[in-house]
Amino acid sequence: MAGLPGGLMAVVQEHWGFRQLRPMQERAIAAVLAKRDSLVVLPTGGGKSLCYQAPAVYRHAGGSKGVTLIVSPLIALMKDQVDSLQRIGVNAIGFNSSQTASEKAAAVQSLKTGTAPIVFASPERLTLEGFTGYLNGFGVSAVAIDEAHCISQWGHDFRPEYRKLGRLREVFPGASIHAYTATATETVRLDIARQLQLDDPEILVGNFDRPNLIYRVLPRLDKTKQVREVLDRHRGHAAIVYCLSRANVDALAAQLRGAGYHALGYHAGMNNEDRRSAQETFTNAEAPIVVATVAFGMGIDRPDVRCVVHVGMPKSIENYQQEAGRAGRDGLPSECVLLYSGADKIQLRSMIEKSAHEAAGRGEVVAAEFVPACLGHLEDMDRYARGAVCRHKALVQHFGQTLDAPTCGACDLCLGDVTEVPDALTVAQKILSCVARVKESFGVGHVVSVLHGDRSEAVTLRRHDQLSTHGLLREISLNTLRDWVYQLLGQGALAQSEGEYPVLKLTKLSWEVMHGRHAVRLIELVRHDRERPARRGAAPTGGRSSGTTPLLGASYDADLFEKLRQLRRDLATAEKVPAYRVLPDSVLLAFAASPPKTLDAMRQVTGVGDVKLKAYGATFLQAILGHAPAAALAVVVARKPASSSPRDAAARRKLAFSMFRDATYIEDVVQQLDVARSTAVGYLVEFIEAEKPKEISRWVRDEDYVEIASAAQTHGRETLKTIYDALEEQVTYDEIRLVLTHQNATR
Ligand code: ADP
Ligand code: ZN
Repeated sequence: MAGLPGGLMAVVQEHWGFRQLRPMQERAIAAVLAKRDSLVVLPTGGGKSLCYQAPAVYRHAGGSKGVTLIVSPLIALMKDQVDSLQRIGVNAIGFNSSQTASEKAAAVQSLKTGTAPIVFASPERLTLEGFTGYLNGFGVSAVAIDEAHCISQWGHDFRPEYRKLGRLREVFPGASIHAYTATATETVRLDIARQLQLDDPEILVGNFDRPNLIYRVLPRLDKTKQVREVLDRHRGHAAIVYCLSRANVDALAAQLRGAGYHALGYHAGMNNEDRRSAQETFTNAEAPIVVATVAFGMGIDRPDVRCVVHVGMPKSIENYQQEAGRAGRDGLPSECVLLYSGADKIQLRSMIEKSAHEAAGRGEVVAAEFVPACLGHLEDMDRYARGAVCRHKALVQHFGQTLDAPTCGACDLCLGDVTEVPDALTVAQKILSCVARVKESFGVGHVVSVLHGDRSEAVTLRRHDQLSTHGLLREISLNTLRDWVYQLLGQGALAQSEGEYPVLKLTKLSWEVMHGRHAVRLIELVRHDRERPARRGAAPTGGRSSGTTPLLGASYDADLFEKLRQLRRDLATAEKVPAYRVLPDSVLLAFAASPPKTLDAMRQVTGVGDVKLKAYGATFLQAILGHAPAAALAVVVARKPASSSPRDAAARRKLAFSMFRDATYIEDVVQQLDVARSTAVGYLVEFIEAEKPKEISRWVRDEDYVEIASAAQTHGRETLKTIYDALEEQVTYDEIRLVLTHQNATR
């Protein structure tokens, strides 16, 4: 390793259990050791903390006196970092206003005896001369500033208390200064360096792509339902749901709780105690869902957040990168979903203008460029959401980087979730002219049924079946037509009136589209919602607590993984620490993928440092050695097709039956048994025939059941298609099949 002393890696292995440094970490650590100022820009999860922590520990191990001072924006974050360093055998200490006297005394003692290599402090602390003078007495060799973009007004998260950090240079003349941030455009970067008075800094900018994150943008239709769909894909794991307003947070959190999810609200309007408790639950609980405004998150470094959902558009791409980036810090597959509506931009714009106005009213100085800069950020974000460019590409491009792969395989556009409507302009023109023909006096439902060619009373009474636009898009399903109207609304190519019965209105943009002067984008969505009926009337525990959704794309013994997670849960409860503090998911997954047989083999796993090995190695090894994978139960989640020997098939069928007995969703059976959906539905049909369950609401929603049953009565049970057509494609063939089977079986 060029330029780094040999002993450094030993320290990294001992405490962190990493066998290698990432390339940027190497250079960043070299800069600290050389006492050269630096500015390190790495995405969330890029491994910034090691860059300043490892040199501090290395120096201290080598007997050098001084401490490394780390400036961290939030007390909660500080406590978290101190704890996690303590647990890997590093005696870090922190000073903040929420400490008890004895905690403070212990910290002072560590300083005095020279046993602490790392001292955390909040920016406010560092404005107290007594405090900085005191620290100087112990020798400060390096200062690290976490979340350094908070110092810049051009960043997305300016914090006035960070401004005072400009003085650090004078306060600690003997220390090198190192700034770290996850997100910084060129302007912000220069501003950070200038504000902190960095001296010829080494500027290191890492790769911004986060390949383990799957990005999706969906038009927002029924947000609660859409949020639940995403959460259900990550059952048993931590999740964050961002909303634009406090009122939305409260409402959504309550709805989710009502449906049995372990959901907590978080926003700045809550009192300190409630906020602290939400934050603590998020850190400590096994699978919490926090529904929050963007006030939540800074300083949350839980590594195993499996999904981040935005129910509204963020203020900027930087914000999005930062907020969505809280998913999958541990490098395991995670999902980021943005539920988008064109109206968000308008709402955010008025929020920005209002806050600038209020600030001015309070006599604060608002730079003339501030509001225009914010609006520019909004435009960028809006373009991203509407864009048809691979999301990974679009994001890195925003940060001035490129991504060469032709497809990322990890965004809605590359995964083929969406199909671009090839002739979107013509389709849009048809929709818009229908709105014009019905004289801008009807709502979405009516316009859609006219386009579809319906002859319902509502249509014929008004003689809308005589319109030239009647049946113009008869080959398109009602659902899809509705999506497209919403997409046009989202792009401002249509508007909706206010009130209880909103009607569709044309806008200036509508006319440009009709004249072919403005392009629009229409996509066909994969309608996940038809595949998994919404959970109804589930008991509070019926939500997400039953088992864990296997991590997508990884290949491992899911049964062993569950066992190890349970063991970790028990250890964490006994020690009163968050589960990931015992060992992170990435380590348990490595154990489940390739079970180590000895402590030495365990030590080879990335993330198992000597301290953790000593504390937990034997316990976990015992569990691993004691785990006999039962042939039928050793569920390996892999992309390869399942083997299809008759014995396996019989075992799978048996397993499927027992899963259905436990009311498992079809999708989960598909995933866990690695079978096609049609196979799983086939098993379910057999299961219903054989065991005649009283009701099947787990797989077919009650109201769909009633509709199908009554359509079957009116139209006969001969072909599924008659029923399918009679119900206007509102239900799936699978659902019809399940209902008819159930009726036959229980007759
Ligand atoms: P950041 O502060 O940039 O968001 P972290 O310091 O939290 O990133 O590190 C992100 C994740 O990467 C953590 O789970 C950490 O354990 C892991 N990590 C960091 N450096 C390495 C390394 N050299 N090898 C393996 N894992 C690493
Ligand atoms: Zn892509």
